[in-house]
Amino acid sequence: MNTNARTANPSYPTRIGLEQALQIVASRATQHRLPIETVPLADAQGCVMAEDVRAPHPLPPFANSAMDGFALRGADLPAHGERAFTLIGDVFAGAETAPEVGEGQCVRITTGAPIPPGADTVVIKENVSVEGEHVMVKAGEKARANARAAGEDYAEGDLAFASGTPLGAAQLAVLAALGVDRVAVRRAPRIAVIATGNELVPPGQPLGFGQIHESNALMLAALARESGALIVAQDRVRDDPDALRVAMLDAAADADVIITSGGVSAGEADHLPVVLRGIGEIHFHKVRLKPGMPTLFGQIGASLYFGLPGNPVAAAVTYRVFVAFALRAMVGVTSVPKPRRARLDAPLHKRHARAEFARCSLHVDDEGVQWASVHAKQGSGMLRGLAETDALAFLPEGEKEYRRGEVVTLWP
Ligand code: AMP
Ligand code: MG
Repeated sequence: MNTNARTANPSYPTRIGLEQALQIVASRATQHRLPIETVPLADAQGCVMAEDVRAPHPLPPFANSAMDGFALRGADLPAHGERAFTLIGDVFAGAETAPEVGEGQCVRITTGAPIPPGADTVVIKENVSVEGEHVMVKAGEKARANARAAGEDYAEGDLAFASGTPLGAAQLAVLAALGVDRVAVRRAPRIAVIATGNELVPPGQPLGFGQIHESNALMLAALARESGALIVAQDRVRDDPDALRVAMLDAAADADVIITSGGVSAGEADHLPVVLRGIGEIHFHKVRLKPGMPTLFGQIGASLYFGLPGNPVAAAVTYRVFVAFALRAMVGVTSVPKPRRARLDAPLHKRHARAEFARCSLHVDDEGVQWASVHAKQGSGMLRGLAETDALAFLPEGEKEYRRGEVVTLWP
């Protein structure tokens, strides 16, 4: 008689490798793409575009001056000595009209002002001397200098951004410059965070015997906000199957993604896998990973569910590896983060078979080489060091003796 869950041959993948786990998360997340909504540009920061945007007009919209100076015809520039140009007027940025420039004439112009008809060149004010009605220009100036052509930045119809592009400050500036005031984006994911455990007490309250202050819910909510998500619920629930079931169903009614911490290992109070099976579906449980082995993934109705381990470091790492990864797919980000690498600044003996995410600090030496210093205390319950972690060094499956200087990949 063996009731051990390990040998019970479950109907879902278990003890799988990282790659398989990420494939499962990616395919489920893609099926859970968030709906598209059109928002004003001012509310679009951090959102991901859900349409291609082409330039509705050229940028710049008209030929204009790149400098303060005098607009004239390049063909009139002197080859030797100097030439007097007749000053016939001025055109400042925002001017409604500009005088036409004929042979031997010039117009005073400021940066951003339209190049007047007839002119094609701007000589900067520092290079001329103004004598009453005459502007003296010396040889050596270049025809068509300091004039920005219409459309030299974006021609009308150019693809500005493809669907799947996250909107940061630079992207918002381009869209505004192109006159776009609303943009179709994926709605921000709505996330519920539930910390589980009988030992948890909110910060600010005294600790009784065996109790600890709850810290994961705040951390996971903060990480989710960094991912552009909206936190719709943040709860603390005891290790009681009925209470967990109610909390999870409540969360599923409102959230696109539910994240729990704790209660997913093989302990007597680890009820979440059974609770999940009762009200939803398990897509996998347990990944050959350190930290983060007990990670549980599934869904409840239309909500994706991530059961992260309770150990704070494991919760932080599995958030980045699985949840942040899923959120990117749900909002339709298409780009793959650029790989980053570093050299190990000390030898490292990896004594276990699982893939590992090692917390490390980074520094760059005088030659521009980036070095990773793997933290000595890697215990997944150790909060110290979490705040000093710059990156996670990814160490693939298998035991290995790493040399000093060996190159490791840093997880995005
Ligand atoms: P569990 O995954 O429930 O077995 O918890 C693993 C470890 O993480 C235990 O030492 C818990 O006390 C601790 N832990 C669980 N949840 C939290 C939390 N929300 N904040 C801080 N520590 C926690
Ligand atoms: Mg627990």
